[in-house]
Amino acid sequence: MVQSPSVDHAPDWERLRKALSVEAERGFSDLLGREFRFHEFLERQFNNPPARLAGSDRQRWQNLAAEFARYPSMTLAQRQHLVAESRRVLLQSERSLEMRSRSVREPLSRRKPPTVNLQQTVQHSQGGELSLSQPLTEVRQIGRRGGDRLARLGLYRVQDLLEYFPRDRIDYARQVPISQLEPGETVTVVAQVQSCSFFNSSKNKKLSIFQLTLKDPTGRLKITRFYPGNRYSSSRWQYAHKSQYPRGATVAASGLVKKNKYGITLENPDLEVLEHADARIESLSVGRVLPVYALTDGVTADLVRKSVLAVLPASQQIPEPLPKKLREKYDLIDRPTAIANIHFPPDTDILELARRRLVFDEFFYLQLGLLKRRHELKQAGEVQLANSQAQRLTIQGQLIEQFYNLLPFNLTHAQTRVIQEILADLDKTSPMNRLVQGDVGAGKTVVAVVAILAAIQSGYQAALMAPTEVLAEQHYRKLVDWLNLLQLPVELLTGSTKTRKRRQIHSQLETGELPVLVGTHALIQDKVNFHRLGLAVIDEQHRFGVQQRAKLQQKGSNGICHVLSMTATPIPRTLALTLHGDLDVSQIDELPPGRKPIQTTVLAGKQRLEAYDLIRRQMAMGHQAYVVLPLVEESEKLDLKSAVEEYERLQEVFPNFRVGLLHGRMTSAEKDAAIAAFHGHDTQILVSTTVVEVGVDVPNATVMLIENAERFGLSQLHQLRGRVGRGGDRAYCILMTHPKASPDAKQRLEVLESSQDGFLIAEMDMQLRGPGQMLGTRQSGLPDFVLASLVDDREVLILARDAAERVIRKDPSLERYPRMKAELEIRFERMLGGAMLQ
Ligand code: ADP
Ligand code: MG
Repeated sequence: MVQSPSVDHAPDWERLRKALSVEAERGFSDLLGREFRFHEFLERQFNNPPARLAGSDRQRWQNLAAEFARYPSMTLAQRQHLVAESRRVLLQSERSLEMRSRSVREPLSRRKPPTVNLQQTVQHSQGGELSLSQPLTEVRQIGRRGGDRLARLGLYRVQDLLEYFPRDRIDYARQVPISQLEPGETVTVVAQVQSCSFFNSSKNKKLSIFQLTLKDPTGRLKITRFYPGNRYSSSRWQYAHKSQYPRGATVAASGLVKKNKYGITLENPDLEVLEHADARIESLSVGRVLPVYALTDGVTADLVRKSVLAVLPASQQIPEPLPKKLREKYDLIDRPTAIANIHFPPDTDILELARRRLVFDEFFYLQLGLLKRRHELKQAGEVQLANSQAQRLTIQGQLIEQFYNLLPFNLTHAQTRVIQEILADLDKTSPMNRLVQGDVGAGKTVVAVVAILAAIQSGYQAALMAPTEVLAEQHYRKLVDWLNLLQLPVELLTGSTKTRKRRQIHSQLETGELPVLVGTHALIQDKVNFHRLGLAVIDEQHRFGVQQRAKLQQKGSNGICHVLSMTATPIPRTLALTLHGDLDVSQIDELPPGRKPIQTTVLAGKQRLEAYDLIRRQMAMGHQAYVVLPLVEESEKLDLKSAVEEYERLQEVFPNFRVGLLHGRMTSAEKDAAIAAFHGHDTQILVSTTVVEVGVDVPNATVMLIENAERFGLSQLHQLRGRVGRGGDRAYCILMTHPKASPDAKQRLEVLESSQDGFLIAEMDMQLRGPGQMLGTRQSGLPDFVLASLVDDREVLILARDAAERVIRKDPSLERYPRMKAELEIRFERMLGGAMLQ
């Protein structure tokens, strides 16, 4: 979908413009694209000014190119300045080209039919009606000064402003004096700044906390706002933010009134700085509910609102890429109306409709992009395979039959269903790309073994790749058990495989003697060549990059093979669609029968002795226990210290038992030794940081004690809990909370007392903490939505997915929908960030 730079070396205006705005949106971090970094891309583009550009302008382009070469060593302010300057130059160049030849097709491909373009160009050059591409400085009511200010927000043209959606609204009709605030009401307080401050959370370095004390004649009010994310912890950002709230300034704060242990407050309210306490809000005769826009230094809310009002008539020219039939089917209003009403809706009904349409668009183009990619992958596979024998894997063969006969249990319904789904994929010539989600213990390995056997009985090899050595070894052990019963050899290849063994494996793979290989990243090294690889199984697939997964798939015969991904981290369907919309997803949402639920209890710090009693009793019965301490990545050193201390302390608490220690700073040999000792029952208690989450499998362990459990997400706790109860004995999970943990945090943990269902827990986790937090730093790649929320807009997401599926089914290349296609190219890349810098 991404085009290479055009043949005539003309700059790609649209991509340039988007690159600049995405870089600004992402905090000037020198975005990494698929091929280039942001600054490299810009340097190349500016080194190639369009041929028709006048000499002086060409020189400016070249100067910018030279500046971008120095971008990596620039300060934030310098970067900001250069990006703004580039946008200005770009806009001017476009305009001067437009002046030079009006008949030339507009190079901006600004999603309008050419006839309309021409008309608009003429109109605005006559100073008449507004056009979407008109610079804001040329809009009469905004003027040069206003336009220059708006440029600080990245808004240059009429359409930029129309598509700058309000992040909230403030209802000035609900103004209440501070002394009359009642918990549970949504209100607006207009009051004066007494003080404000910023500090970084001591628990989470990525969280910055903004505190504002407001005062009106009736009382004082303290307000707190949270800013999660690295870029807010920079002192420069904080300083700039604070300077918007000088002492004495009038601020409107709007939100839900809450009572906490410090008194009355507003919960994460929307804030707006006013120039005066009254009068000025009346300046806009548009009712009392006003849009609130993200602002920056020197750009007032008033300016943005007035400017939006001035350009609002142009919203009728906003193109509508969605066909009428589709809009009717999904009950969507048209885009021009939606855009007009997201800013200044006459009532909340139309606002809801406007929002629904714009949220739909955000989801729709993402799904369309993902599905289109999936379609292209499948097609590529088919083309590859057409050159050779079809790589269909036989699903009704001896091996699978024999395996079923050997199994000491019946498959669960969920396993049977997922196996059917996989086998149906394998039976096709297009390569499978399926993700199996299932809780720990749901029986994913059995499912993977069936797929592996399908490959072997069809004369192909299979590979299983896991993200850590520990996990790879575990899989290897399980596979050996199963496959040896069928007289099939399996080998393990990791970074620590000895050279001789490694060579032997390499050669047995090449001859085809070795049908199954399990391993880590070692599998994707260049030296590893398969005779005929038909299936790649990737465990905990989110821990691998796209490239790594692709590399394994390319080791298939003819450069492609079926891929089965597995994950024990169930995520809600909305998230799965967003992150893995290009995969087919199967869920094993049922545990094998007879599993006893892990008895889970939330305990406060002072009840620790009860927890130790339980551990003692279990150990007296010959069982073992884990004690897990939270690990925050940035402060690994500190946590290391606490892990060592806890280890020593517990050795004193349990003098008759041996305690082991496992943490992320240990070498992999040390880790292996610690795990082996626990596995072999040489140690009875294993004190560990969260590394234990993946890959320790000791069926004899029956107690999982988690310290400061409130610092973990529900999903992660559920994962940890899955380490016990693997041996059929009754198992226990104790969630210890810190004495200072908030009541809310403790309540959150109660979900785990009452449920064992990973999918439900993940759903709750996402609702409570939001998708970004829930996924944590391990899984990034979540697209940026402007209006849409994965938690609240679930229903619209499902509709958008459905719509995208229909469109792709009907016309996968989108030839019949040129506008939709153009819109997709911009949006999809933008949402996933960086991809456009190709
Ligand atoms: P996962 O990889 O999903 O965590 P495993 O495949 O390792 O789970 O299975 C966990 C345990 O349950 C294994 O000991 C496996 O043999 C067993 N098991 C798998 N499927 C079933 C089933 N249908 N009935 C009973 N036990 C099963
Ligand atoms: Mg497993």
